[in-house]
Amino acid sequence: MNQWTKTSAVLLTLGLVTTSVPNDALACETGHHSITQQTPEASAEAQLASQNMMSVAWYQNSAEAKALYAQGYNSAKEALDEQIKKHKGGKKLAIALDIDETVLDNSPYQAYSTLHGTSFPEGWHEWVDAAQAKPVYGAKAFLKYADAHDVEIFYVSDRSHEKDLDATVKNLKKEGLPQADIAHVLLKKEGEHSKSERRNQIRTDYRLVQLFGDNLLDFDEPKAATPEGRETFVKQHEDDFGSKYIIFPNPMYGSWEGTLYNNDYSISPEQKSQLRQSSVTYFDPATKQLKQQEQHNN
Ligand SMILES: [Mg+2]
Repeated sequence: MNQWTKTSAVLLTLGLVTTSVPNDALACETGHHSITQQTPEASAEAQLASQNMMSVAWYQNSAEAKALYAQGYNSAKEALDEQIKKHKGGKKLAIALDIDETVLDNSPYQAYSTLHGTSFPEGWHEWVDAAQAKPVYGAKAFLKYADAHDVEIFYVSDRSHEKDLDATVKNLKKEGLPQADIAHVLLKKEGEHSKSERRNQIRTDYRLVQLFGDNLLDFDEPKAATPEGRETFVKQHEDDFGSKYIIFPNPMYGSWEGTLYNNDYSISPEQKSQLRQSSVTYFDPATKQLKQQEQHNN
């Protein structure tokens, strides 16, 4: 790394400058990068977005992430086999899966955001339209198994019904995921409140035996959208995880993040950053005590 690149890297880390190319390109020592001044708001936003780099790197590169998907889908298969064995007629068996980070991997979109300092929904519909998402590890094999055993498969996602339906169906079909048609891809219509309505709609005609997701909202609504309320939900459903509820890892985003901000995403990037910091407990080697960062009011 030459001096110029080192200086740029430090400024980038501090969020003081941005480049017209992804940060990884900066590592190449071509010396032909355009550096532009950013407004303080844009650099704070970029700094916040850059905090997601480790999560995206883990999600894309760790074999452990793939193993967790394998674990989820293996448990699901075992539990589904039980349901198939027990099923003695009546309503047909059905399962409902969230799409993003449950069936399809959108981490290239997350990677763009963290590298370029942008936030959702910037670039999201372009990504969806491109229909280039790949299935997460184990999803296709499991879904083909369910399909071969006459189980109805519903994809229940809060992607926009109005904007994203065609591209979503196209993406799922392109990857060979079974039953991916407009009757089975249930996206969020304008004015719709939650996924519960769509799940209940499925229940009128089917016996909905399994739900899959990377967010508690893919299973049901916790009574309170707070860290405590969400933990209570997990405790209440402890025995359902791994059988009726199959959960997958997503450290990149989710409604868990919103609870750090009191579900108010309109606060400033600096406030978000502070709330992230004060949400963690740390060990202080000087006092040998567990502590939390104090919050400062901006
Ligand atoms: Mg999801």
